Amino acid sequence: MLYGEEDKARIQSTAPIFGSKEEGQAIPLYRLGEASMDPRIAYRLVKDELLDEGNARQNLATFCQTYMEDEAILLMSETLEKNAIDKSEYPKTAEIENRCVNIIADLWNAPKAEKYIGTSTIGSSESCMLAGMALKFSWRKRAEELGLNVMAQKPNLIMSSGYQVCWEKFCVYWDIEMRVVPMEIDHMSLNIDQTMSLIDEYTIGIVGILGITYTGKFDDIAALDQRLTAYNNTTDYKVFIHVDAASGGFFTPFVNPELVWDFRLKTVISINASGHKYGLVYPGIGWVIWRDTSYLPEELVFNVSYLGGEVPTMAINFSHSASQLIGQYYNFLRLGVEGYRAIHRRTKDVALFISHEITNLGLFDIQNSGENLPIVCYSLKEGLDINWTLYELADRLAMKGWQVPTYPLPDNLENCVIQRIVCRADLGFNMAQEFKDDFVEAIDYLQKVKLESPKEVKPRSQGFTH
Ligand SMILES: *Cc1c(COP(=O)(O)O)cnc(C)c1O
Repeated sequence: MLYGEEDKARIQSTAPIFGSKEEGQAIPLYRLGEASMDPRIAYRLVKDELLDEGNARQNLATFCQTYMEDEAILLMSETLEKNAIDKSEYPKTAEIENRCVNIIADLWNAPKAEKYIGTSTIGSSESCMLAGMALKFSWRKRAEELGLNVMAQKPNLIMSSGYQVCWEKFCVYWDIEMRVVPMEIDHMSLNIDQTMSLIDEYTIGIVGILGITYTGKFDDIAALDQRLTAYNNTTDYKVFIHVDAASGGFFTPFVNPELVWDFRLKTVISINASGHKYGLVYPGIGWVIWRDTSYLPEELVFNVSYLGGEVPTMAINFSHSASQLIGQYYNFLRLGVEGYRAIHRRTKDVALFISHEITNLGLFDIQNSGENLPIVCYSLKEGLDINWTLYELADRLAMKGWQVPTYPLPDNLENCVIQRIVCRADLGFNMAQEFKDDFVEAIDYLQKVKLESPKEVKPRSQGFTH
């Protein structure tokens, strides 16, 4: 074949990437390069840059989804350009969000006699900020009406020391005193007696956690509701519960519908959950619902234009893609109650299998077996004659690609170092079996080698908060 001048461009675009001028030299890392480059080469360079990063499917540290169906991915990539806040331009997307809010309110048993209201968010952190602000604003209104000097003291929010970092952020950003109830080794969730003793006129609310990030355990929200109802009957300074159900909100209603933790309890006024945890959507979607509009102060609601009129919104963020929202709706439509139940039950079976296998090794105390959320937590038994720690075990597992976080428990319990395995829908039985084999092999190795000296346990943490 003969080539003329005009074929240069074509030859360029079919030239192998490895061997191209751009690939053959160092790319500028911290400033813009002068020239543009072929999209294929740019794609390959970025893709390769990410190559040796942890493999998401083997990341047993995260609650966030690492798998979605091809149809969901297609739908989401086809809707990336839609801005979720442009309700006027994308009224169908707005309607889809509205349907999701209704579906979730129903899932959490919002009473028909009240007027629930809710919104999508970027994740539970944003949801918790909104719910926390609503608590603060409505507390202030009630307290002022009762004649309290609301400026005399910082308002406070009560929760267990197993809180997720977003609550610390909330308290710092909005100047709230965080009243923390320490967890205890034989309990590891909210101590209700201590919680009640911390309440005063400046308490904006109590956070109950459905799925403590550290261990996956549940606070006893029903018991808290009972105590709080009795307390509220004795005072004008009523206190209410927000449930942080980031991980449990999309799991428990399908797997343990009989567990009462949601709007069936009268003092539970708002609930959040992450769509990207057991709602089975890729990261970037959360939800928050209030049981009645009266718990969401008007000052926090802003109107945006919608079909020639206005629609109320509540969000910290403004522009963001609607694709996550659409992915959530796809899952609701595609899976239904049956689908979610089947997937979550299977995930729980896998968790129980893993904790059973780990128990059988005889070296570990199981902190959470996966019977509530499919989270397996364990620590090394005391008094074992071994010279390795959970940190060395984590390193051995990492050599096979498994990321298993090892960290000390909060406050009070910081001497207890645990490891946590978060089972997700895409950790199938076969993969779990492989994990178990690698786990056993890692321990065999550690038992055989003579580590120079027992390594000091330096309680350090690695990524367990998500
Ligand atoms: C994950 C988690 C959060 C934060 O959720 P994001 O969706 O990641 O913002 C808050 N609270 C609890 C209990 C969590 O598990």
